[in-house]
Amino acid sequence: MVVYLDNAATTPLDKEVFDTMAPYMLEYFGNPSSIHAHGRQVRSAIEKARKTIAGLLNAAPAEIFFTSGGTEADNIAVFSTIRALGIKQAITTRLEHHAVLHSLEALEKLGEINLQYLNYDEKGNLDLDHLESLLTTNNQTFVSIMHANNEIGNLNDVQAISEICLKYNAVFHSDTVQTMGHYQHDLQQLKTHFIVGSAHKFHGPKGVGFIYTNGAVKIPPLIHGGSQERNMRGGTENVYGIIGLAKALEIAYRDMDKHQQYIQSLKNRMIERLTAQIPDVQFNGNSAIAEKSLYTVLNVSLPPSDITEMLLFNLDINKISASGGSACTSGANAGSHVLSALNCDPDRGAIRFSFSKYNTPAEIDYAAEKLAGLYVKVPA
Ligand code: PLP
Repeated sequence: MVVYLDNAATTPLDKEVFDTMAPYMLEYFGNPSSIHAHGRQVRSAIEKARKTIAGLLNAAPAEIFFTSGGTEADNIAVFSTIRALGIKQAITTRLEHHAVLHSLEALEKLGEINLQYLNYDEKGNLDLDHLESLLTTNNQTFVSIMHANNEIGNLNDVQAISEICLKYNAVFHSDTVQTMGHYQHDLQQLKTHFIVGSAHKFHGPKGVGFIYTNGAVKIPPLIHGGSQERNMRGGTENVYGIIGLAKALEIAYRDMDKHQQYIQSLKNRMIERLTAQIPDVQFNGNSAIAEKSLYTVLNVSLPPSDITEMLLFNLDINKISASGGSACTSGANAGSHVLSALNCDPDRGAIRFSFSKYNTPAEIDYAAEKLAGLYVKVPA
């Protein structure tokens, strides 16, 4: 059996998405900036895709800008906003994806901002009173806090965070890469200035994403060039990527409730199987608490053992693809900045299983059994 349980890294392309994209590779090849019929045809498909995405998010089409993915979208939010508005103060968390963390750290290194980090507990729950106290003493601030963590799956209360930011006139960006297409985002309710999406996290193509920018903030482009994306992002559009992105989001919204239930049941099954078969198995962050974590992510903490360094390798031998990284940053183990920030025991192994609509209960049983088998054979 070949089992793919690394869906937080990327998801397989949905065949329905591929079928929608294919004509834009072969038949409709015009450059959307061209004014002739070939160009116009493609331009109108891009604008239809933009309208679809905006409609699903309850936003205006003019607030959606296509990018090369989540990383670029996060970079636009960070660099363009801070520089255009002359913001000197930023607040984030040590648990953010590097697309945000390294961007903010780069600005701090250049001396352009003072960067502050929110307090959190050992499970990664953020201290929102701390956010409020930092904002009380700060001048205009850029706040970047992710909706859900890609490693431990923790869901943050972005609604509450957005209200605090609004109260203190802070600009709020939320990295929603892991929740886009998996949870509803209603931008009339959620008062963020920026959220982002990346198609390959919800069965769309790689290398395409978008940023939603609330009309209230006007920012300059990060990538300069032609007048594409209403002067917000130079470069010929990734046409078939954009078509696939819109289709993938449409399917995700269409089937969301059904898939959420199904995928949560797979995650529950994995928790049950591992708990029954591996003594002292634990779960990092809130990942085993359904209402506090992504239904797609389970971060397993495994007892100290000789095989800790070889866990992923052993799973790979058994044709199971998952990802990992303990809190340890030495040797062959690259380490996880998230688990390190949570002070997780570096001697314990960590495996992130992440699930999709294409996984089956049999795959869960197989992966759990193979992982448990490693612990039976080589006890600590
Ligand atoms: N932000 C988060 C939370 C992610 O999980 C990822 C991808 O792993 C990214 C940003 C980057 O997205 P992309 O791969 O589209 O650049």
